[in-house]
Amino acid sequence: MGGVSASDPPSSDNGSDRSPLVDGQTLVTDGREFAVSVSARRKRLGLTVERDGSLTMRVPQDCEIRRAEAFARKSRSWIEAKLRLREQHRPAHPVRAFREGETFRYLGREYRLLLVDEGGAPVRLVSGRLVLDKAVAVEPRLARRELVAWYRKSGLRWAQGRLQPWAARMEVPEPAVTVRDVGNRWGTYRQGEGENGRVALHWAVFQLPSHLVDYVIAHELAHIKIAGHGPDYWMLLRRAIPDCESRKEELDDLGRRLWLGKIVSAGDG
Ligand SMILES: [Zn+2]
Repeated sequence: MGGVSASDPPSSDNGSDRSPLVDGQTLVTDGREFAVSVSARRKRLGLTVERDGSLTMRVPQDCEIRRAEAFARKSRSWIEAKLRLREQHRPAHPVRAFREGETFRYLGREYRLLLVDEGGAPVRLVSGRLVLDKAVAVEPRLARRELVAWYRKSGLRWAQGRLQPWAARMEVPEPAVTVRDVGNRWGTYRQGEGENGRVALHWAVFQLPSHLVDYVIAHELAHIKIAGHGPDYWMLLRRAIPDCESRKEELDDLGRRLWLGKIVSAGDG
């Protein structure tokens, strides 16, 4: 996925500088920097907000600086809106510490951490508290490993109970399921891994409310019938989950704020 772009029809402006822009130069207008890209095939000016938030202006050959400056000014509110939107969608995954009272989510509910000195399972849910063994909590990396393992185990158990009803509803064979770190996705479906293929779900997904985990599961199951995200894919998914678009929006919003295992580094307290 690239940046977002705007373009402008050719027009005459009343700037001051008539010298042409040079490919690779930086144009500064009203405090904003634009990397200039000159193309002989171009007639219009175009703007792109790159993924890193930098701005590129694509211009035709012999485009006068004043025309580019006028275009930059005219595009100001467009640029601001795009940068604002980018900010709203920027990942904001929290950093956690394993201290008493810190909260972790499971299936949409918040659980405060309770450190205990009793041995037994290193992580467990007991009467509304997430109980962590003290000896584990003092070693953040070990604690993270144990907590992620707990999400994987609990999540897998939960997902296994949902897979069959969803598969029946969507009329697809029930695939195998694993819960692990799926990188920057929430789920994947691989054909041919096992009899009916394999769905992998990110462990972090199980922090979400159950209707969103269901969405992730159904999303992957729909790929058993249709690869990619074309109109026929969404039609299939909408039959199973009529409000799938709003769930997707909710997932995009909550998903960028899920804890992905980042912990306070040693010395930060
Ligand atoms: Zn998909």
